[in-house]
Amino acid sequence: MTTQNYHMSPAQFREEGKKLIDWIADYYEQVENYPVLSQVSPGDVRKNLPPNAPEKGESFDAMMKDVEQFIMPGITHWQSPNFFAYFQSNTSGPSILGELLSAGLGVQGMLWATSPACTELESHVMDWLVDMMGLPQAFKTTNNGGGVIQDTASNALITALLCAREMKTNFGTNKLGGCPKIVAYASSQTHSSLEKGIKVIGVGERNLRIVEVDENFALDPEKMEQQIKQDLEEGFIPFFACATIGTTSSNAVDPIRAIGEICRRYDIWLHIDAAMAGSAAVCPEYRAAFDGLELAKSYAFNPHKWLFTNFDCDCFYVTDKAVLIKTLSILPEYLKNEASEKGAVIDYRDWHIQLGRRFRALKLWFVIRHYGVEGLRYHISEHIRLAQELASWVDKSEDFELLNQPPFNLVCFRHKKEDAFNKELMNTLNKSGKIFLTHTVLNGQFWLRMSVGQTQTRQEHVERAWALIQQTAAQLA
Ligand code: PLP
Repeated sequence: MTTQNYHMSPAQFREEGKKLIDWIADYYEQVENYPVLSQVSPGDVRKNLPPNAPEKGESFDAMMKDVEQFIMPGITHWQSPNFFAYFQSNTSGPSILGELLSAGLGVQGMLWATSPACTELESHVMDWLVDMMGLPQAFKTTNNGGGVIQDTASNALITALLCAREMKTNFGTNKLGGCPKIVAYASSQTHSSLEKGIKVIGVGERNLRIVEVDENFALDPEKMEQQIKQDLEEGFIPFFACATIGTTSSNAVDPIRAIGEICRRYDIWLHIDAAMAGSAAVCPEYRAAFDGLELAKSYAFNPHKWLFTNFDCDCFYVTDKAVLIKTLSILPEYLKNEASEKGAVIDYRDWHIQLGRRFRALKLWFVIRHYGVEGLRYHISEHIRLAQELASWVDKSEDFELLNQPPFNLVCFRHKKEDAFNKELMNTLNKSGKIFLTHTVLNGQFWLRMSVGQTQTRQEHVERAWALIQQTAAQLA
């Protein structure tokens, strides 16, 4: 019998854990002092790490020393209030603590029986969100639909695609494999995860129809209907459409109601992707963009982008949970249990692709309870107000032009000089470490994008960023 034990004792965990919480709190106090975009070159981080794993265990202090020396220089500070790139991926104290608690409990929530609270809290929080955000009541788990926390909007989209494929093929593709001539519709502004999903589920890229957008970069429903008619004439079977509320490039809003009505007419599964902008629905004054959501069969948004909940946390809803379960349910002998057999519980393993699942609802529950609906509304509407103020400064400037009046929190603009100048401007700003912003190409032109939504971003950060952009442009001109 061995008495050897290499584990970290609860006493040591308590001591190191407290230090780590202090370290994270210090980090948040100083995060503005770091260069937002990591300034290291490829290979810089690895070259400092030993070639082999240690034979003997090391102290926690030694690990944290290396974090500071070798890891921190390679960090891009997504939590900096001066982070305006891509989309924000904001977090908050209650979320981090919820994540820690989830890791501490270390439960697997694949079945209700494997940890009932993991399932029931998730269903409950997902139902809360329906009311908090004015989503269709059909999405509630207490009705025919239901919500599940997935890792990403990309995987939620793949789940929706699979359900749509099975609905259209009478659950035949699951049984027989292969795919008939089914076709999907989306705009040129739809997130790339759709193209990936279409490949993953075996429909094939050539069966994805890219519909043209209007002058606001929103999908043109008439063009979509024309394409559907043409496909039907050619013997294709329309099965899926994806519309977006808040596209990645420009935050454009597809006309959900018009698209939804077309989908109903042709029996097409409509999925709505509101990965970032979905959080805006917490504010009643921004819900007009969500009009028609009840026509969708599935919907996803990411609290891990803009609801102060750390990655990963995607909220995925369907109006008919029976379809989802029928599409993904597999019951090997070793997972059989009484609660499932009685049909009285939700087993979330049937609601997404993977089997195992973390207790993600804890962090979302903590966030909602810490802020209250009022706090969430305040901060989301404040981000939108800041973005709109920034847009008004750009609009008034003689040297810059604004792409559009931002519907939510993303501002797209460019210097009136040529693309090369705008690229140089962006690279110079990012190398300065003072702010980080990214770009897109729309109508063949290079546009700078500033997404205003970091947890700690306030008026002064947006003002300083705009001043820096103007000064840097003046120096480069
Ligand atoms: N959909 C939209 C509109 C997005 O902007 C993004 C990410 O930028 C995604 C989907 C993908 O999100 P995730 O990383 O959660 O898969």
